[in-house]
Amino acid sequence: MPLTANDPTRKSWLNVPENSDFPIQNIPFGVFLTRDDVITIGTRIGDYAIDLGAMHQLGYFKGIDLTDDIFLQDSLNDFIADGKKTWRLVRNRISDIFLKTSPGLRDDMEHRKKVLFTMEEVEMQLPVDVGDYTDFYASKEHATNVGSLFRDPENALLPNWLHIPIGYHGRSSSIIPSGTPVRRPIGQTRPGEDGVPGFGASKLLDFELEMAFITTAANALGKHIPIEEAEENIFGLVLFNDWSARDIQAWEYQPLGPFLGKSFASTISPWIVTLDALAPFRTKGPEQNPKPIAYLEQNEAMNYDIHLQAIIQPEGGNENVVSKSNFKYMYWSMAQQLAHHTVNGCNVRSGDMMGSGTISGPTKDSYGSMLELSWNGKNPITLDDGTERKFINDNDTVIMRGYCENDEVRLGFGDCTGKVLPARKLD
Ligand code: CA
Repeated sequence: MPLTANDPTRKSWLNVPENSDFPIQNIPFGVFLTRDDVITIGTRIGDYAIDLGAMHQLGYFKGIDLTDDIFLQDSLNDFIADGKKTWRLVRNRISDIFLKTSPGLRDDMEHRKKVLFTMEEVEMQLPVDVGDYTDFYASKEHATNVGSLFRDPENALLPNWLHIPIGYHGRSSSIIPSGTPVRRPIGQTRPGEDGVPGFGASKLLDFELEMAFITTAANALGKHIPIEEAEENIFGLVLFNDWSARDIQAWEYQPLGPFLGKSFASTISPWIVTLDALAPFRTKGPEQNPKPIAYLEQNEAMNYDIHLQAIIQPEGGNENVVSKSNFKYMYWSMAQQLAHHTVNGCNVRSGDMMGSGTISGPTKDSYGSMLELSWNGKNPITLDDGTERKFINDNDTVIMRGYCENDEVRLGFGDCTGKVLPARKLD
């Protein structure tokens, strides 16, 4: 089925500001609360939120096999479970309706009142009900940096790393939409000389610059997803800030891996940009040597050229870009991650979320965490107000942005932000 919605020559009758993340070629999916306190599934063009529930009731999706209430829900899980063919039909139809030359909704002022909202009038929610969340560790640069900092620079990568997309099962209950404040966590930290573990507010709060993909109901228990079918089962991507308390993490992570140092909050951008919309930005990933085992072997380019930024904004201050990275640096592609995740027969469900792991690039300004950027506090970063950061201070806001660009189209993900609030008082 052709991706007519990706036609770069298309323009919308809705105004799209220059450099907007949301031209008519994007058409992401999200969930929002309207000015009338109704929760609905929607999309976005320029600075307009578009109520797909209202559009469906008004008959704009006639001819597409959709249940009546598919968009009148508080999550995209059921729509995502309908599968790629339906996602494409709906996205192409939305594009047709908002095309500059299409009358219909454009000329129906009554319908427009029911369907269109400005972004100020809506409150974005989590787009999916995340059943399971998995976080990978798929950037070779990040794994090498962390291995050098915490173990041995000579043997920074553990022996399994070049053979397995390493991952762990995270906590889905604390995944929050952009804009939700994050409270500094409290926990245990490594003992000092007295041998007694510390306990209190984390002193080493960090961000991790990641993306996450959202799956459809991909496989029954006991079945696996072959790598060549993996992308069929990926709905789209969001930006993902995997907040990390390094001091809590350092004390707890052996032998079973991350736990409370990660599970207090993970922030996502609220619009899911579909894999279809990202198709023009497909690119090759890093060369894989040694060659992966056959079930992980990919013959096509399965990475995506998505520019990523991490920004620190102190309270009342300016935005300071502290990292510029790219999703294409990921060593293990999403397809490889999903093929690996299911090779043992583990079933993946609609709305599951898979984090990429911190995406660090090859240069020091492309590292995706403060741990790496400040080299565990040895090289603090100076912000434009003269203050220094080894990690994240109270009342700092961390902003992540991502966009794709070629000669014809630019599209992006909107903001993924979270302001750090001081820790709660210890009882
Ligand atoms: Ca992570």
